[in-house]
Amino acid sequence: MPNPSTPRNNGHQQDPAVRRKNFDEVAHTFTKEEAQKEADRCLHCPTHPCQNSCPVGVHIPDFIAAVKEGNIEKAASEIMKTSLLPAICGRVCPQEKHCEGHCVLKAKFGSVNIGGLERFTADTARAEGVLKAPTPAAATGKKVVCIGSGPSSLACAAELRRAGHDVTVLEALHAYGGVLRYGIPSFRLPREVINKEVETVQAMGVKFHTDVLVGATIKLDELRKEYDAVYIGSGAGLPMMLGIPGENGVGVYSANEFLTRINLMQAYKFPETDTPIKVGKHVIVLGGGNSAMDAARCAMRLQPETVTIAYRRSREEMPARVAEVEHAQEEGVRFEYLVTPKEVVLDENKHVTGLRFTRNELGEPDAKGRRRPVEIAGSDFVMPADTIIIAIGQRPNPTISKTTPDLKVTERGVIALDEQGKTSLPGVFAGGDIIRGGATVLLAMKDGIEAAQKINAYLEGK
Ligand code: FAD
Ligand code: SF4
Repeated sequence: MPNPSTPRNNGHQQDPAVRRKNFDEVAHTFTKEEAQKEADRCLHCPTHPCQNSCPVGVHIPDFIAAVKEGNIEKAASEIMKTSLLPAICGRVCPQEKHCEGHCVLKAKFGSVNIGGLERFTADTARAEGVLKAPTPAAATGKKVVCIGSGPSSLACAAELRRAGHDVTVLEALHAYGGVLRYGIPSFRLPREVINKEVETVQAMGVKFHTDVLVGATIKLDELRKEYDAVYIGSGAGLPMMLGIPGENGVGVYSANEFLTRINLMQAYKFPETDTPIKVGKHVIVLGGGNSAMDAARCAMRLQPETVTIAYRRSREEMPARVAEVEHAQEEGVRFEYLVTPKEVVLDENKHVTGLRFTRNELGEPDAKGRRRPVEIAGSDFVMPADTIIIAIGQRPNPTISKTTPDLKVTERGVIALDEQGKTSLPGVFAGGDIIRGGATVLLAMKDGIEAAQKINAYLEGK
């Protein structure tokens, strides 16, 4: 009989006082005993609301049952039926919005720690050598290219290869993984985990090439001639800025640049590495999403005196994962809610010295149901700062759309899809942040998997 009333195990983490000074992983993987005890809480619900609310439909009760039995190979194979990036998803998916948010135990005893169990399964199966890449079907003779190597293209490429196609991934940067590598810091997602998940896709026979910027190195139309189908999973890597006075001052970064320097170029190891990063005494991060939390927590590890996240709404409206907000707070990041940035204050050398804000109160809900911030007249104040990091969102880079005039994009620059989910070009498919303008790892993967199914159907009719 299951024991649902056993208290939920949230897992162990590095001590905040220690971890705020290093880039080692914050959360630890369950031991086998801990995993089995947590798995024993699951009721194996026949209607599996957890699985129904997972964007890629991971077989959650079945993999948890296998963990409970101690059969890690079976647990891993259950997950791998629908998701080939389990060690990544177990670490970074917003489980509270998907599976764990719908677990029947949530209200009374606390949801099963599904993310922790997924991570345990992937890490343990990999360590024991039983995490197996699916065997591809017989060769179809069709060639498909996936642009970008973020979660969306990785998921699409793996599904296409599973169906027997010859699949190539082209990546603009010198390393694979997209935001997983250049955006999400190693203390949340170790680089080794990304490498291993990419190796699983490589082991299936998918070919990878770095340093290929489609639209510059090679045009989309040339790829269309060379391949039977194309998947665009090029993400949304262009940072949005505020457009306020002083924004071009020395010491202002977009979160994208700040995080890329730290995560991709490893600037926190400078001068051992070539790229430097300097934050001074006081850092302000603008925004309330995962990028803002990641930027603030990276900045904290560079050891300034203060790091403050300034957000224009209240805690309730913050879109970041709950765990990231809590971890940031534990590490000493301060939060200033209900403020709108008005001007970056600069000295005579154009170096940042502060940020002028206006205070807000919450007004009527907007179209998404979030209450709007309304400025309070005469409430301006200046917060001292040496570094300001703008983390208010990203949009797609126009490199491909600008060099492919027939590819329709919306006013927001995302690739437009018709009612059947098709782009304006035959044989060209798209998904992930390039169609959503910014979402989550799982939604990007879901798009990649669904596009692979559409590509399979398209190639059958070719
Ligand atoms: P990306 O991950 O952006 O990958 C696109 C890839 O395409 C990149 O590698 C890029 O270099 C490459 N590319 C771009 N243009 C070209 C071109 N012309 N030619 C060749 N290659 C090209 N989601 C979560 O679920 N949980 C989190 O904790 C989380 N944290 C986040 C933290 C940060 C800092 C950010 C920015 C986002 C976070 N997200 C999180 C969102 C999530 O990472 C994205 O939604 C997801 O990565 C989108 O996947 P994608 O494959 O569409 O694009
Ligand atoms: Fe187990 Fe919760 Fe899913 Fe039910 S809803 S099968 S208890 S994880």
